[in-house]
Amino acid sequence: MVRIGIDVGGTKAAYGLFDEDNRLLDRRQHLVPVDTDGPGLSEILLGNILSILRENGVDHSRVEGIGIGMPSFILYDRGYVYMTSALVNVRDFAMRDWFRERLDIPVAVDKDSNASAVAEYRYGAGRGARNMVYTTVGTGLGSGLIINGELFHGSYGWAVETGHMLITPDQGLECGCRNRGCFMSYASGRYLPDHMKRLGAGMKTEIDLTGDLNGYVLKQGLDAGDPLAEATADQLARYIGILTVNLYLALNINLFVFGGGLVNLGNVLFDRVRAVFDRYNHVDMPVEFKFAELKQDYGIIGAAEFVRDLPKP
Ligand SMILES: [Zn+2]
Repeated sequence: MVRIGIDVGGTKAAYGLFDEDNRLLDRRQHLVPVDTDGPGLSEILLGNILSILRENGVDHSRVEGIGIGMPSFILYDRGYVYMTSALVNVRDFAMRDWFRERLDIPVAVDKDSNASAVAEYRYGAGRGARNMVYTTVGTGLGSGLIINGELFHGSYGWAVETGHMLITPDQGLECGCRNRGCFMSYASGRYLPDHMKRLGAGMKTEIDLTGDLNGYVLKQGLDAGDPLAEATADQLARYIGILTVNLYLALNINLFVFGGGLVNLGNVLFDRVRAVFDRYNHVDMPVEFKFAELKQDYGIIGAAEFVRDLPKP
């Protein structure tokens, strides 16, 4: 039997075909049209699923299931997508039912950060822990929560949708979640250019504010000791650190795993995150910060893990 894991992001979709021993047999990736809607996105995913199976000579009867990680608020029990902040037209869509009507293969739909959390918990930085919070700091910002070894969904499915927790309500940049002042609007790749331009106004900097502003540019600036890069990293660290303090106070979980593109900045960013955490935490008990270990594959590995957790027929 094989499983397919699909990681749908705000800009691209990645697919992994896995065998029973979790070996990655095939992979592919493509860009996602940003204005697509639920059925449009699903048609694209279905076309790729069918071609992956065909190219690998896999009969549908040999597919244990397909797991899809979506950057969305998802009613987990029904695989229903309420809203997606990165793909704003993917909303109010019965995604799992759509696939069930077209494929005789079980399908699970869950949020993308839950996929990464499960992958890191079972195969990466969370191995052996009882409780864990995983946080993606990439194009977007989101978390997944493991309690007593199990993924915790909450009542509906958006437990620890941390990117949209509010830190300055009604102030700041408007996010795809329709609010202003959520953590994602301060600490994610999508909003990095806005913040760098604002912080850079009137500042002496070698960074070209009219060019691409992303994690790579930020890293180069930090290596060169550029004041704008320093100010940007300080601001990012402040919001990630405060978010982590709040999660620690809410959940009292002592293992935080960080993944996503901006985590490639490494300790130059996360030493600052840790300093913010330590500044606001006044109880001296062990709290671990770790980097994700599975690199770019945790999204597809975790989405394929959703299949293992489907109710057995
Ligand atoms: Zn938001």
